[in-house]
Amino acid sequence: MPSFEYGADYADIREQVARICAEYPGSYWQALDDKAEYPHAFVDALTESGYLAALIPEAYGGAGLPIRAASVILETIHANGCSAAACHAQMYTMGTVLRHGSPEQKQKYLPAIASGELRLQAFGVTEPTTGSDTTQLKTRAVKQGDQYVVNGQKIWTSRAHQSDLMLLLARTTPVDQVTKRTQGLSTFLVDLREVRGKGCDIRSIDTMINHNTTEVFFDDMVIPADSLVGEEGSGFRNILSGMNAERVLIASEALGDGRYFLNKGVAYANERVVFGSPIGSNQGIAFPLAQAYTQLEAAELMIRKAAALYDAGEDCGEAANIAKYLASEAAWKAADETFQTYGGFAFAKEYQIERKWREVRLWRTAPISNNMVLNFVCQNVLGLPRSY
Ligand SMILES: Cc1cc2nc3c(=O)[nH]c(=O)nc-3n(C[C@H](O)[C@H](O)[C@H](O)COP(=O)(O)OP(=O)(O)OC[C@H]3O[C@@H](n4cnc5c(N)ncnc54)[C@H](O)[C@@H]3O)c2cc1C
Repeated sequence: MPSFEYGADYADIREQVARICAEYPGSYWQALDDKAEYPHAFVDALTESGYLAALIPEAYGGAGLPIRAASVILETIHANGCSAAACHAQMYTMGTVLRHGSPEQKQKYLPAIASGELRLQAFGVTEPTTGSDTTQLKTRAVKQGDQYVVNGQKIWTSRAHQSDLMLLLARTTPVDQVTKRTQGLSTFLVDLREVRGKGCDIRSIDTMINHNTTEVFFDDMVIPADSLVGEEGSGFRNILSGMNAERVLIASEALGDGRYFLNKGVAYANERVVFGSPIGSNQGIAFPLAQAYTQLEAAELMIRKAAALYDAGEDCGEAANIAKYLASEAAWKAADETFQTYGGFAFAKEYQIERKWREVRLWRTAPISNNMVLNFVCQNVLGLPRSY
């Protein structure tokens, strides 16, 4: 087992991020949720603060911080009742762009992303007919001279309407011409401003949470050949850098959500008096909250381990997957037990429980469903036979 440091705690970052979050109370998020609107003001404030550019190297105008710092930023946002879902892709797509992008691509895009002039918020991987079976995806990018022509469809491409750039995974070599299914895929940095309405059609999906997610249709979409990130055919490996970062960062958001719920649940269990005593004096209320706390603590340790391995450039796939699993389950436990603690009041929008409860459910399904995490552990860690 690789050794790892517990990780810096970044008390100053936590304090400053919490101060920004205080300007965006539950009523702000509730109003957006009611209208399914994007949190422009919150994202602008985060951009201006520089926290969204935490992972961009200083040479390109960012803060050049490690993923541990990004993890703290996202955890803090969620622990304070806000949501980074509108902009977190900017952080996790850096795993692919920084490690595999060319110096020209970094020079062209990173300073503008760091300043907020450009938004890289969309990550197009999932497809409607192949779902979790990523290597079977059908979107094709065919090289023609100094261009690629893209045909196919993505689903659940969140924030495609709000983003200027999209990191796209497409097949460049047909699956029957490669020896391994992970070969022949390529990553592209697509400038959505150039292709919207010109071979790229983006349609919103109405969902139970305010996530600004979309379907994206490619019909002979032409992109310049220099949109390719890394080498042609190595897209699956490139995107894994982003996916491991994504798992660590989403786990951090889930941890923050869990902390948010637990704080609310414990406060309410202390305040609410029924049958002459606080409801928290009943073990039927107290024990589930204590269980949620223990699960969150365990998840935090695994997040710190995954972040430490990622920052050290070591293989963090196992730790990142387990962190995502533990944090999403712990967050859901904290959310559902807090929901139960609030009794009927959990259903009233003004308490900010039902909206957050809907939101936190996502982490068990996306960015990777927890069953697929267990498949990863079965096959890659325990050495059990593949189920597919
Ligand atoms: C709100 C939202 C936002 C999203 N944002 C993005 C985004 O920005 N970019 C992007 O690319 N994707 C995004 N996704 C997609 C998300 O990553 C997928 O929904 C998720 O990976 C599951 O894929 P699927 O929905 O196709 O489910 P499927 O693959 O159809 O699976 C359905 C169920 O079957 C289970 N299952 C399937 N195969 C197996 C197996 N072999 N063993 C055990 N269980 C199995 C799954 O675990 C799941 O529970 C988003 C999804 C949502 C809901």
